[in-house]
Amino acid sequence: MFIEIDGWMAKLRFSACHFIPNHPKCGCLHGHTYAISVRIEGEQKGEFIIDFETVKGIVNRICDRLDHKVLIAEKDPRLLIQKSDGVSIEIIDSKKRYVLPLEDIMFLPTNSVSAEDLCKYFASNLAKGLKASGADNITKIHVRVDEGIGQGAGCEYQL
Ligand SMILES: [Zn+2]
Repeated sequence: MFIEIDGWMAKLRFSACHFIPNHPKCGCLHGHTYAISVRIEGEQKGEFIIDFETVKGIVNRICDRLDHKVLIAEKDPRLLIQKSDGVSIEIIDSKKRYVLPLEDIMFLPTNSVSAEDLCKYFASNLAKGLKASGADNITKIHVRVDEGIGQGAGCEYQL
């Protein structure tokens, strides 16, 4: 069995800024509203597989960390990230140099800030959150990260 939550309808959303280094269009700093939709597979225990509110709480906490931030992939080999003075940070790609306030940035432990890599980030953090909630009946999760309405990336994560 599974439960599903649509991120647009259930308001599992955040807005953030990013850029994809060297991409002809997405190489410029720009923003999106993202929605996170999930499917949770597992055995029903009593009334539920898992309470919708538990899942939404976990996803919302991840969204809150990213909301209204500039997303930077710490492991992006195309970026030189210099944590300078504790207040601002310098980020250099092949053609550009950004200096941004540190407090505006959310560093992600990913190789890029594509919808695909954000999806893997959400899936692994949702899996951690589900385990921490004590759910032992979940077998698999599916996560989809929509980058605006009508396009997104999805992945599966085995628990
Ligand atoms: Zn984009």
